[in-house]
Amino acid sequence: MTISGIVICSTCQQKIKLRHQVGTIYPVKVNIPCDKCGKILKGEVVRDKECAFQFPYENVTMEFDNADQVVSVSTELPILKEKTNQVTSTLTPFLALFPGYFTMQELGDFTAKINEFDSFYKSKFNSLITLFELFENKNWFYFLNHLKENFDDEIDEIETFEHCSLMLVSLNENVFNLLRTKFYKKEFDDKIFNELYKNNHNKKEKLKELKIEIEKYINVEDEFIKGINLLGQFLENSKSFLPVVLLSSKNDFSKSYGEDLNITTFDFNELKHIFIEQFEFLSRISSIYFGLLNLEKENDFDNFGTITECNNLSFYCNRDNGIKKEIIKKEPILNDYFLNTLNSQIRNGIGHLKTNFNAKNQIIQYFPYKSPVKKDRFKEIYLIDFAFIIFQQSLKIHNSLRIIAKLNELIK
Ligand SMILES: [Zn+2]
Repeated sequence: MTISGIVICSTCQQKIKLRHQVGTIYPVKVNIPCDKCGKILKGEVVRDKECAFQFPYENVTMEFDNADQVVSVSTELPILKEKTNQVTSTLTPFLALFPGYFTMQELGDFTAKINEFDSFYKSKFNSLITLFELFENKNWFYFLNHLKENFDDEIDEIETFEHCSLMLVSLNENVFNLLRTKFYKKEFDDKIFNELYKNNHNKKEKLKELKIEIEKYINVEDEFIKGINLLGQFLENSKSFLPVVLLSSKNDFSKSYGEDLNITTFDFNELKHIFIEQFEFLSRISSIYFGLLNLEKENDFDNFGTITECNNLSFYCNRDNGIKKEIIKKEPILNDYFLNTLNSQIRNGIGHLKTNFNAKNQIIQYFPYKSPVKKDRFKEIYLIDFAFIIFQQSLKIHNSLRIIAKLNELIK
């Protein structure tokens, strides 16, 4: 079923017809760029109200006289870009997606998955966020009580950071299983976890030394808490990430989709802050990955093996994001794991406020270079591909917390 409505831009009076394929997840934020004045109209799609489109700053009407602009709105699927000569194929976002982009099987699996996610979200989401807050404040007594009451009544009640972080990571594993694919869990999260802990289990003293070295640069406990906070922020926005969760079912995490697909659940401004915070976290935490991997391979966390330009872990920790990324590129296991999530050129473009976003075609232009000769050179990424990277960052933050919790467990 498709529902429609007309939203009239309060700035320029452009009449924009919205077409929405009814889905499962409501309410969801939507951002619609006005073709005429360029403003981004911000609203929500809801169910069980007379009008499905709620735009507090615009006028919404059901009177369908000639619209100036037509936009497909989807809350959980990406939208095929309108091709002028194929208007019929984009009648609804849902119909537009198969047989071209996703198979019936993929869409069916995705629907089952988001139904499960939705039922978790409705019944447990607030309890989970409360649990995160109790953890962030290190209220172990209340944390354990709340965990027992709402999630698992068979846990041990040991009021320590180490124990509670293991409990939280194991709960988050279940939550993230609702969002990541089995392939991703196996080929990314479990693979790197096993790489890092294959032979490190019985190296308690060396792991202790590693943690002391890392703690010269970052406070591992504070980072863990920061990571929980970032996961909370991601989960608050998780409904808006559903179109890229569907993309992840393709199990190709370096592919870009923006040539063909759009997204209406995000605006670039919201996403760029999430990207920067998550990027900085992963960039700092990558030192733990390197320390464990060096210890695993060379039995010495300072030994970077064939990466000759990096003489020890302290050297790595002291580098800026761009150089860290260059060093990661030379380590195949970590390079395959982090992929584009630590793209420091996008990070620099955003950080130096050198990005332009074209809302109409959803292209982000970024200027990654500082030197006067190259400063006007830009690169481009589509909004949907940017959101896909941010989703992958969030999965990696969860996995980083799992890796830290294991480290603490082994050295206690
Ligand atoms: Zn307008």
